[in-house]
Amino acid sequence: MDLTYPPEAEEFRVEIRRWLEDNLPEGWFDDGFEMTDDERAAWLQEWTSKLFEGGWICATWPEEYGGKGLTTMQGVVLAEEFARAGAPMRGDFFGDTLVGPTILQWGTEEQKKAFIPGILSGTIAWCQGFSEPDAGSDLASLKTTAELDGDEWVINGQKIWTTQGFVADYVFVLCRTDRDAPKHKGISYLLCPMHQEGVEVRPIRQIDGAAEFAEVFFTNARCPKDNVVGGLNNGWAVAMTTLGFERGTSATTGYRRFENELRGIMARAEENGAIHDPLIRQRVAAAWSKVQIMRINGLRSLAVVLTGKKDKGVSALGATNKIFWSEYHQEVMELAMDVLGMSGQTLLGEPGEEESVPGYGRRPVSEEYPANALQSSFFFSRSETIWGGTAEIQRNIVGERVLGLPKEPRPAR
Ligand SMILES: Cc1cc2nc3c(=O)[nH]c(=O)nc-3n(C[C@H](O)[C@H](O)[C@H](O)COP(=O)(O)OP(=O)(O)OC[C@H]3O[C@@H](n4cnc5c(N)ncnc54)[C@H](O)[C@@H]3O)c2cc1C
Repeated sequence: MDLTYPPEAEEFRVEIRRWLEDNLPEGWFDDGFEMTDDERAAWLQEWTSKLFEGGWICATWPEEYGGKGLTTMQGVVLAEEFARAGAPMRGDFFGDTLVGPTILQWGTEEQKKAFIPGILSGTIAWCQGFSEPDAGSDLASLKTTAELDGDEWVINGQKIWTTQGFVADYVFVLCRTDRDAPKHKGISYLLCPMHQEGVEVRPIRQIDGAAEFAEVFFTNARCPKDNVVGGLNNGWAVAMTTLGFERGTSATTGYRRFENELRGIMARAEENGAIHDPLIRQRVAAAWSKVQIMRINGLRSLAVVLTGKKDKGVSALGATNKIFWSEYHQEVMELAMDVLGMSGQTLLGEPGEEESVPGYGRRPVSEEYPANALQSSFFFSRSETIWGGTAEIQRNIVGERVLGLPKEPRPAR
């Protein structure tokens, strides 16, 4: 296996390294470099402007829509160098990673012009309106309807688990637009404004006091007729593209989040002596090996994208990767709690301070439930085998598409 990158990719790597060295704050790479929460907040604002000036936000998007037109290989190198330097990239998951690329792939010219600049500049906040109370894994059973009334769609129904529903300006929402068609065929993918009378957002409060997702009720909500992405009743194919982006991002850098977190757990184990427990040591070694497997599988995914190779194994790579990292993370967070021992049974965060939770960025420690970063990550890890398609559903994909097992029996219509 040849793991070297082509020379032009390495040239580009030098360019990015130089830019990072010139633009990151003095002392960034030194041990013990620290910023207060206020300093960090001010710096992040300045940093985002620098990212814009450098053209590094959504840099693989075409130049005509405000991107930098980088090749896939250059995009990978860019992500690798930012991750290596620990430099934050703007993390607007719904805009940058999900709906932006979906609009670029399926949208009309008018939709690209209307929405892509706002996604790039971060002025439109998005949420994903797919799941419903009776349509999660079996998403195609969704019941929210959209009916045409003149130049507008009129939407009625309910969505659930809508992350960021309370801050979003727009929702990319799946609606039934043909009730007589077979269930996968009568769905459309709409871009609907959230700030209107017909949309009610009710936050769902979690066990830790935070409310990161919401129920969204549509009662005669209005959406412009032209905001259907990918054609009328073609929403299933468009939604699968979005879910593909959700499951398959950051091929060669995703492992770093886990590697950094594991280093933190090892440091804690050394500090409190847990590392002397041979069973803890075995679990740390197993976890380290799994992180390296993720790194290598990332390179595999990259090779697939670059060569355009298509076979059964490749079509399920997104599913196997999702199963692997989400289950790994639950295991390693159990390990982290065992490393913390009895002290981990109390909430270790400082209310009001910010914690950096790998993979989820910085979040304030809540007053009501002051978990520290490791404890928050432990709680989050429980959700990771659910969102973006549950581990069981991913196993069905592997069983059916790779192993050729019989398809699940479908209920009679
Ligand atoms: C943190 C988080 C954030 C989320 N954010 C969003 C969001 O922003 N927008 C959005 O639309 N949704 C979001 N979701 C919802 C998520 O997509 C759904 O929870 C997920 O698709 C599962 O659906 P469900 O919860 O209805 O569970 P169900 O589909 O009811 O599944 C229940 C259990 O049955 C199993 N199961 C179901 N069908 C099968 C089958 N055929 N074979 C084997 N086992 C099966 C599942 O694996 C699961 O264990 C989020 C979820 C979480 C946890």
